[in-house]
Amino acid sequence: MSLEEIVKSEPAYRLDQIFLAWFDKNIHNFSEITTLSKNLREQLIGEPWMTVKEKILQTSEVDGTRKALLEFSDGKVVESVLMPRASKKEWPDDRPRFTICVSSQVGCPMGCAFCATGKLGFSRNLSYREIIDQMRYWQQILWDNNEGEIDNIVFMGQGEPLLNYENVKLSLKILVKYAKIGQRKITLSTVGVPEAMEKIVTEKDFPAVRFALSLHSALSESRLAIIPSNRPGFLDFLVEWSKKYHNAFPSRTHFIGLEYIMLKGVNDDAQHLNALIKLALKLGSIRVNLIPYNGSSCNDFFQGTDFATIQTWQKKMNDRDITCTIRRSQGLDIDAACGQLANKNQ
Ligand code: SF4
Repeated sequence: MSLEEIVKSEPAYRLDQIFLAWFDKNIHNFSEITTLSKNLREQLIGEPWMTVKEKILQTSEVDGTRKALLEFSDGKVVESVLMPRASKKEWPDDRPRFTICVSSQVGCPMGCAFCATGKLGFSRNLSYREIIDQMRYWQQILWDNNEGEIDNIVFMGQGEPLLNYENVKLSLKILVKYAKIGQRKITLSTVGVPEAMEKIVTEKDFPAVRFALSLHSALSESRLAIIPSNRPGFLDFLVEWSKKYHNAFPSRTHFIGLEYIMLKGVNDDAQHLNALIKLALKLGSIRVNLIPYNGSSCNDFFQGTDFATIQTWQKKMNDRDITCTIRRSQGLDIDAACGQLANKNQ
């Protein structure tokens, strides 16, 4: 029987008590949740406390980034990454802070041309527990070693989160309410699933997390070559949707993130830069994040744009008052690009 079936006949607050306990460092199994009745604790004895099991753990010798291959009860695996935050300004109490990257699906059906996960194909959606247990897995390691806290989560691991909408939404709610991760400290990244994007701006109970769109090209045809799931008319949809997004989340901190992986000879010429600037200026409050491509052991078709060109793009966008950053690569020595570790293990 699943956890939900066991608690079905219990008052609704029982689930609250369980969710709270999952993020309490002093509680290690269901029988230690003393707020639950003795009878319920006995029923939960066979229920796994954690739905993920570590299969492989790698640590970067360069920057301390850690990457885990995590296994679920059916033997399926996903990757999850823990990244130390280098800037001590982000440590409010001198305790180190960490960002984690979580997966939302086993494999991915979107098949983006540069992505190692896309090569795995799609296997299944993760449950909400399997998503939040990636966070609990890392937090337990940090607690065990007295290393610090996770205060930033990006949904940029394996899978397209918006194709697993309900489980992702529930996991966001739990992370915000019970793990006390600030809404603006969570970023949901998508290549664009219009139906789900509409839900985000209309459903009042969708957590006000940050939103990032993996754009990778502002020219429809070249975007289709990079992201085969790109729908005709998506860029026009994006312009209209951005207005609804800014209405739904009017705070200045709720800019739309535009992720742009720089691929040599594919999406990095002047035509692509001009198209990106033109689109960015139509989208209201946005931030462009240029991502140096570091290659993948599973894909030798693409090469990364040289860093000087990436810097030129950044300057040209800044000159047009478009906020533009260049992503700092972490964990290069441990196959940190999404899907590489899972691919090697297939
Ligand atoms: S980039 Fe993201 S959406 Fe595209 S194939 Fe990889 S995991 Fe899926």
